[in-house]
Amino acid sequence: MNPLNFNTRAIREGYRTTGEQEHSEAIFLTSSFVFNSAEQAAKRFSKEEPGNIYARFTNPSVDAFEQKLASLEGAQACVATSSGMAAIFATLMALLKTGDHIVASRNMFGTSIVLLNTIIAKFGISVSFVDLSDLDAWEHSINSNTKLFLLETPSNPLGQVVDIVALSNITKARHILLAVDNAILTPALQQPLALGADIVIHSATKYIDGQGRCLAGAVLGNEAIIEQVHGFVRTTGPSLSAFNAWIVFKGLDTLSLRMNAHCANALILATWLDKQPTVKKVHYLGLKSHPHHLLAKKQQSGFGGIVSFELQGGQTAAFKLINATEIFSITANLGDTKSTITHPASTTHSRLNDDEKLDAGITNGLIRISVGLEAVNDLINDINKGL
Ligand SMILES: *Cc1c(COP(=O)(O)O)cnc(C)c1O
Repeated sequence: MNPLNFNTRAIREGYRTTGEQEHSEAIFLTSSFVFNSAEQAAKRFSKEEPGNIYARFTNPSVDAFEQKLASLEGAQACVATSSGMAAIFATLMALLKTGDHIVASRNMFGTSIVLLNTIIAKFGISVSFVDLSDLDAWEHSINSNTKLFLLETPSNPLGQVVDIVALSNITKARHILLAVDNAILTPALQQPLALGADIVIHSATKYIDGQGRCLAGAVLGNEAIIEQVHGFVRTTGPSLSAFNAWIVFKGLDTLSLRMNAHCANALILATWLDKQPTVKKVHYLGLKSHPHHLLAKKQQSGFGGIVSFELQGGQTAAFKLINATEIFSITANLGDTKSTITHPASTTHSRLNDDEKLDAGITNGLIRISVGLEAVNDLINDINKGL
């Protein structure tokens, strides 16, 4: 479908100018658009003539981002949103109705789970949670009213993976939509639509911006699906701002360079951690010891930038290490040029009770690192002080 390579499209796709021959894309900071005549206004509103009306519906900076991301994900269409959560919420609200049923991965971003259990539940849409990698569990959770599967692969922080092709064989036979949150790998490392998914969701806040500057999100899929999601966004208002669209548009220029560098640093750090006597276990998909290494190698073109490891000394040792680091930012955020370090059991996963933590593999000695783009030797030396 796309004759140009990924990096060329990441830099050239979506380019448009104001007519002033600027080389870098302009930011269209306008809430509304004017018409040449009353007749043109009428034609725009009746959709007889395509074109901009109002920035809650469309904006050239937002269009440029949508067009470029759609090209990189191999999608027919894309709608951008003000954040990743807005993208997930818009998808569910646009495509589902009261009485429908969702099967979702237990191993998802915490706020996605909260969204399903609280706000979505309030609208009479029920949810069953399953272990991400357990294909039988997905299949056995299907009811007559199941409309959508929702998941992230790989999961965070432990890097579990599900076979997207195998799962899509299950959903396609039952006319269930398969929605994959691809924020952790981005299209530079995994393209779920090509593997059989129907919908890709992004928090562009993470690696697509990649530099911690703004919130943004996106939903991708075929034209019929995206038209519905766009209709929801246009009517309810979680549209992406032109300024933030421009930031994430520019982020895409360097996406694959950055993702490859995140992967390279993560592999070196994980390999080193694996040799340290006070480290009990390292969870990184790039290590051959990871139970999902081969599956990840099959469906991803890289293992990503998230490394988790468990210390012998439990929470005391974990806190000591985190506090001893001087380079790492202590924050639960991820997907930044800056490396970040967090203790999942007391932060991102603190809502889980002890049994749920045990199930999810979130031990008190577990530390999660989002490996940034600093020199990896400096990162290793920084961690070594705290071990
Ligand atoms: C951060 C994140 C989200 C939520 O995105 P926001 O932009 O913070 O709203 C959703 N999914 C995943 C996998 C994330 O990491």
